[in-house]
Amino acid sequence: MRVIYEPKGRAKEYSELACNWYMGCTHGCKYCFAPSCMRKKMEDWHSPDVAIRDKVVEAFRSDAERMHENNDKRPILFSFLSDPYQPIEERYKITRRILRIVQQFGLKSKILTKGAYELVKRDFDIIKAAKIELGVTVCFVNDALRQEWEPNAAPVEERFQILKEAHEAGIRTWVSLEPVIDPEEALAVIRKAAPYVDFWKVGKLNHMKEVEDQVDWHKFYVDVVALLDSLNAKYYIKEDLKKYSQSADGEV
Ligand code: SF4
Repeated sequence: MRVIYEPKGRAKEYSELACNWYMGCTHGCKYCFAPSCMRKKMEDWHSPDVAIRDKVVEAFRSDAERMHENNDKRPILFSFLSDPYQPIEERYKITRRILRIVQQFGLKSKILTKGAYELVKRDFDIIKAAKIELGVTVCFVNDALRQEWEPNAAPVEERFQILKEAHEAGIRTWVSLEPVIDPEEALAVIRKAAPYVDFWKVGKLNHMKEVEDQVDWHKFYVDVVALLDSLNAKYYIKEDLKKYSQSADGEV
């Protein structure tokens, strides 16, 4: 069984390879696309009964060995369909075991999480030693909005703390600024975290038409690029948002 796979479609913009070991995610984000990818009901995917893929650590080791033999340096993202630092990790430590294998075989990888400070901090030693890029999704500075949209994920202050301490520890940090639900909140995230974020990935909101239609995406594109440029930040604007680089009348 191969567990490191090539994502398709939009997900490929994030990483050439990915791996998910937890089946389910208790963070319970309202905008979560994982249940539809997995053909599951939202309430089932977000329930406390998160499963661990059968023999996933052994399968990851075998994939890692193969990649090492082939000198495959494509980055692997952890994870698209679940979070490597959700509460179940505290007990089973699957993420920590996988990161050890990444370190052992010198693979290139990056983490993306909304997990709790204590849990992510636990692995700073391996993340640093294995040169893993540590990414945190941050959509808001206002924790009341976070509670509304990402009810069981870490509070925003914990996420900023993770990024700050990781940066200070010499770990390469990045932020996934997506989905953008409130453009002013997204811009405030950049202003706040810019000193300790090495790279930004900025997208928009998709699959929630009623909220999406309330945003002037061209204005957000212009504002976010101007802000990131003014801070000399390194960034990538996702294709979905890049489409709005021109206004309806063709102005850039
Ligand atoms: S962290 Fe990701 S996988 Fe988990 S509920 Fe939120 S959007 Fe879904």
